[in-house]
Amino acid sequence: MLADAVVELAEFFGAHADFLNPAAAIPEPVALETCWGEPLPGRALACRPWFRIASPVEICMDDAPAPAVFEDIDVLAAPAGMLAELCARTPKLAAPEFGIVAFTGVGQTPLTRDLRDRLWDVWRVPLFEQFRGFQGELLGAECEAFAGLHFDPTLVQWEQRGGSGELLLTSLRNLRHPVWRLATGRAGRVVEDECDCGSPRPRVVWTE
Ligand SMILES: [Zn+2]
Repeated sequence: MLADAVVELAEFFGAHADFLNPAAAIPEPVALETCWGEPLPGRALACRPWFRIASPVEICMDDAPAPAVFEDIDVLAAPAGMLAELCARTPKLAAPEFGIVAFTGVGQTPLTRDLRDRLWDVWRVPLFEQFRGFQGELLGAECEAFAGLHFDPTLVQWEQRGGSGELLLTSLRNLRHPVWRLATGRAGRVVEDECDCGSPRPRVVWTE
């Protein structure tokens, strides 16, 4: 493969088995890693199977959880597409005490301005985007300054595809399905300036 070759998303999904690296171990469950600290000082409901199942993080694998599931939780962590469905429910679901973590990812429902506004209208709690890989590995996390998604440049590389603004993703966080320069279909830019939150890590800022 050429060093500067780009892997299109359809190619990656269409030939997923070809990207399997059998020499790499099956990824371990990951930590939720929120801005409220580790371990969380409250109860979190995570609607994805990727996380270590240990109090206070509980996993919900139901695509349509009953309203009671959302009672007395401090953090709701779910894919942006699922949050869009949950916030449209009537009667309104209970708001998490601390806030919401919205998972996005390559090929997943994006967290648009419109969706942010709808979630705010319903729950009125802080909302943080986390861009995660196919095994839940953290590829970028929005900070308390809401100035983009910080990433660890020793493990994750984001770069712009020449001229288009589309971001290409290379991750060493998932060696089971390694892929170099995956076309994400999302336009953005990488910002290296120091962030108001104090983190020295670079960040991705979506531009649409
Ligand atoms: Zn920041």
